[in-house]
Amino acid sequence: MVTKENERMSSKMFTCPYNPVHVMKITRAHHHIVNCRKAHAHKKFIICSYNALHHYAPEDEAKHLETCSDRIALIDAAYVSYGMKSVVTGNLTMPPPAQFQFDDDENWDSD
Ligand SMILES: [Zn+2]
Ligand SMILES: [Zn+2]
Repeated sequence: MVTKENERMSSKMFTCPYNPVHVMKITRAHHHIVNCRKAHAHKKFIICSYNALHHYAPEDEAKHLETCSDRIALIDAAYVSYGMKSVVTGNLTMPPPAQFQFDDDENWDSD
């Protein structure tokens, strides 16, 4: 079966956060952004911890983290695999270790 995989791949373009005039295929983006970061070191852009291609101005950090698709995907994945929000939020207030109460005279009322 012939898909449009190639076409879709090549249409995935990357716009350089340092200069929107720099538009390239995503496959070249890693190489480019390393160089472009050096050329714009004075901007002191922050590199997203979720995607090395996400560089943003310090003042845009909150906005970026809010909209970062990789961060959101990661949270989704973590949420799915662990099924508990504490993993995602870093909230370590975990419930105490399992205190199963095996009540011997639990009334199952099987009759
Ligand atoms: Zn660039
Ligand atoms: Zn990001």
